Amino acid sequence: MWQAEVRVDLDAIRENVSRIRSGTTAEVMAVVKGDGYGHGMVPAARASLDGGASWLGVCTLDEALTLRRAGITAPVLAWLLAPGLPLDEGIAAGVDLAAASLPQLDEMIQASRRAERPAQLHLKIDTGLSRGGATVADWPALLEAAAKAQSDGLIEVVGVWSHFVYADMPGHPTTDRQLAVFHEGLGMAEEAGLRPRYRHLANSAAALTRPDTHFDLVRPGLAVYGLSPVAGETFGLRPAMTARAKVVLSKRVPSGSGVSYGHTYTTERESNLAVVPLGYADGVPRHASNCGPVHLGGVRRTISGRVCMDQFVLDCGDDQVEAGDVVTLFGSGADGEPTADDWAEAVGTINYEIVTRFGSSRVPRVYDGERP
Ligand SMILES: *Cc1c(COP(=O)(O)O)cnc(C)c1O
Repeated sequence: MWQAEVRVDLDAIRENVSRIRSGTTAEVMAVVKGDGYGHGMVPAARASLDGGASWLGVCTLDEALTLRRAGITAPVLAWLLAPGLPLDEGIAAGVDLAAASLPQLDEMIQASRRAERPAQLHLKIDTGLSRGGATVADWPALLEAAAKAQSDGLIEVVGVWSHFVYADMPGHPTTDRQLAVFHEGLGMAEEAGLRPRYRHLANSAAALTRPDTHFDLVRPGLAVYGLSPVAGETFGLRPAMTARAKVVLSKRVPSGSGVSYGHTYTTERESNLAVVPLGYADGVPRHASNCGPVHLGGVRRTISGRVCMDQFVLDCGDDQVEAGDVVTLFGSGADGEPTADDWAEAVGTINYEIVTRFGSSRVPRVYDGERP
């Protein structure tokens, strides 16, 4: 028995990865950070590997170690590492690490000494995002220090990589500029005597639309989960997540009834209200108040009034609603339900955030499809 659940279709994840894979000669690193974009990191990782991914990408050392503790032995890259972490544990567990500065490289050298094993490093160059990565100005010094540490047997440079700015606009001129800077950075690495096996740059959008950016490895995240990074195009992907709940209470109220906190919604006639047990503690954005789309009884409806921590209300007019009826917030859209894209548009965010909000919540995740 359930009252609210997030269903994740592992076959969809597997097929999405397989589709991405068939569109490139590069290897595929499935990005499973953020609890697998809300889908559950470990099951998403297993389904991705089953679909043909040969790498997994995460942000934190903790995420990487969680994959290892789950018995996953595939190559893993962790790329967001504050100073002072037990990097030696990652190195001992065979987790590849991203380095973007001399202090980071230095920490990784020290950690390699402690682990008595050379860290496998991916040097990151900032090609224009101005987020992670060494600036072009700082790149030669990082390369030189890494080349020296490698020749001393302290570390191994496995990758050179960067990240795009315009995930949603693959034709944007910035993408071409970043690609040119990346080529320049690779040339400098070669001059420093580094020939990394993995050069990688492409996220989902680039993996799907820019084969000239694939190099040796692509790093799709969003597309793995069946969501499109480009508005209006599905690329044949199938959304893996469905969020739904059962009506806990249905009741007839008079016209003029203010609904939920702040009475931001008032019934315009006598109507049937349905109380749905999902709220912002579960991942429903509070910004979905009076605009979040749902599907109930074969009809699209809109949330009435404020989304609360645990619940929201639907004004169903004269439609019959019973406690126990299933309300679908979003899914693949195949049965007429809204999609994560519809939610993103309604609340003014991106599909990434809609699904990721449902990660690690109190709502049980249920897996459909073959579990590898
Ligand atoms: C999240 C992330 C990705 C995946 O991006 P998508 O747009 O979801 O495909 C790839 N690389 C890095 C560095 C990331 O942080």
